[in-house]
This record gives sequence, structure tokens and C-alpha cells, in this order.
Amino acid sequence: MKLGLADSTDECLRAEAVAVVTPMPSDLIEVIESMKARMLKCKAAGVAATQFGIPFRVFVVNLIVASKTSKLLYSNVVMVNPVVIAEEGSQMGFEGCLSFPGIQAWVERPQRIEVTWDNVGGEGYRGYFTGYNARVIMHEYDHLRGIVFLDHVEGFKQFTQRAVETNHGE
Ligand SMILES: [Zn+2]
Repeated sequence: MKLGLADSTDECLRAEAVAVVTPMPSDLIEVIESMKARMLKCKAAGVAATQFGIPFRVFVVNLIVASKTSKLLYSNVVMVNPVVIAEEGSQMGFEGCLSFPGIQAWVERPQRIEVTWDNVGGEGYRGYFTGYNARVIMHEYDHLRGIVFLDHVEGFKQFTQRAVETNHGE
């Protein structure tokens, strides 16, 4: 399945996603597989269904668990109907977005979050995430609410204007 990726001017980036019925129907699972493929191809840390014009509450993220001696990558974690139930502290860091190619911005995020979600089969999970993982999840969670990372940046309108010119001016 070939999915069209929304760019910064697409209205679907502003849509509020709706809950997904689980276990997920096979056509939606196919969509998720295509999202994973796109993520891998673009070396992205995460993608949300809304970025492909699919208005459901689901995203895929790559998470990292690091200890002093090793770094484990949890690839393609699918979070269905996620809810951030607690946020604590704050951190600053650089973010980019597949829908805003070539733009990075310094964005404030919570340092620690608590999240509930389902897997595609409908099993419920609850987890705590900090640092990088919290940032990645919050970025994708925002996409499900029609929020993009530049909304957290002052002077956002100039940034998006530049994105539109970059995408359409060549
Ligand atoms: Zn994004």
C-alpha cells in the first residue's frame, strides 16, 4: 500500500483523530505496515496516521532504552488510542517532522510522561517514559490532536511560511 505523506500545508495535519476499534481491522493493520516502512525509509523516530490523512488515533514510534553498557532500540512500537495521563517537568530539544522537511526547531516537552495505550490486538498497556522517548511520544501524540511541533515555537508562522516556500518554490 502506498501512502501519501501530508506536507506542512495539508489540512489533515490539523484534524483531530478519532478512536480506533480494536482488534484493528486488517485494512488498518496494512496502513500501519506502510507507516512503518515509511518510517524506516525516512529514518524517522515516529509517524502518526494523521500525517497520511488517516484520521485515527494511532502512531508508531522507535523508542530507546539505554543503560550504562548498552542501548536497546524498540522499533515500531504501535500505540493505538494512546492517552497521556500525566506529564512532569520539562526538557528542551531539537525536533524535526516528516511533514516539515528540512526544518528543525528547539521545542519544550515534558521530561516524564505516563501513557496508556492499546496494541493492534486491543491489549492495554501503561508505561512511563522520560527524556528522548517522552519527546518522541509527545510529538506523535500532538499529531493526533491536530498540533504540529512548530506550534510550540514562537514565530511559528514565519517557519511554516518558509516551509511552504521550500516545498512549492522549486
Ligand atoms: Zn511530526
